[in-house]
Amino acid sequence: AEQLALATKDLAAVSTDDFRIRLNGNMEFLEEIPSLLAHGAEGIGLYRTEFMFLDRKTAPTEEEHYRAYRQVLEAMGGRPVTIRTLDLGGDKVPGKTKHEKEPNPAMGLRAIRYCLSNRELFRTQLRALLRASVHGNLRLMFPLICGVSELREARSELEACRTELGRAGVPVGKRFPVGIMVETPSAAMIADRLAQEADFFSVGTNDLIQYSLAIDRQNREVAYLYRPLHLSVLRMLETIVSAAKAANIPVSMCGEMAGDPLYTLVLLAMGFDELSMTSGQIPAVKGFIRRVGRAEAKELLREAMELTTAEEIERFMRTEMDRRF
Ligand code: PEP
Ligand code: MG
Repeated sequence: AEQLALATKDLAAVSTDDFRIRLNGNMEFLEEIPSLLAHGAEGIGLYRTEFMFLDRKTAPTEEEHYRAYRQVLEAMGGRPVTIRTLDLGGDKVPGKTKHEKEPNPAMGLRAIRYCLSNRELFRTQLRALLRASVHGNLRLMFPLICGVSELREARSELEACRTELGRAGVPVGKRFPVGIMVETPSAAMIADRLAQEADFFSVGTNDLIQYSLAIDRQNREVAYLYRPLHLSVLRMLETIVSAAKAANIPVSMCGEMAGDPLYTLVLLAMGFDELSMTSGQIPAVKGFIRRVGRAEAKELLREAMELTTAEEIERFMRTEMDRRF
């Protein structure tokens, strides 16, 4: 596997009929950057910044945020770095007492909701991001967006921070793309409207599948129902991609579905511009993309979506994969 990584590191992920997909890396800690680069990550597609909050009692200072973001941006040397604002909430809340635990954390005060209710914490991160943006190619992304109001509020908080820093004479650099995670059925259904106000989409299938199939992603009892090839998931993905294409904004996927070769043909067919995954998954996904044509993948997807159950669609895709590779 390491040899494959080295051999394909500098090759592009391009289909036999020349459809180019950018392969990025998902990261949680700065220590992962060398491995991502060694496996050929062309950028960072998802930096889960909430990991900075875990295993400590107090929230990181603006300076700590700034240093981490600057380090990633510099290490990636001008390649795009997609930093997601805090996806805290549920069980990942610093200093929350047992007493305040939510009965239904996945549907509770998490991610962008948590940030919009804890403005000082949100602003601390936004200021650090604005300051760090002068050191590389930053893209900012908000998690768990359900509606356009949340995106507007988050954006206006960002602009307020920009103005405040500007007045204080702190360098904040040029404007950078501001996108959203599409990871709720709500966002998928209004993707056309969100695409008017977001600079890019990144599909978070871990949550999108959890919320659309009503399956707690942590609950082993229902894990067997967690099916990325469920027709409802595929239809939603198509809706999201076509809304992005119609508005001419890039669309990426950073959920775990992006890193499993079983789904590569489907994602290639749909027209994702970028896929983001852990470092070890990059070489295999790239290998599949380089050995197939997009026209052929589209034909397979069309046939697959005429089937009905997740089991049928999975069986079909597995058979077609085995025939080819
Ligand atoms: C997702 O939901 O697919 C995602 C990438 O975000 P996380 O796994 O951090 O919730
Ligand atoms: Mg998510």
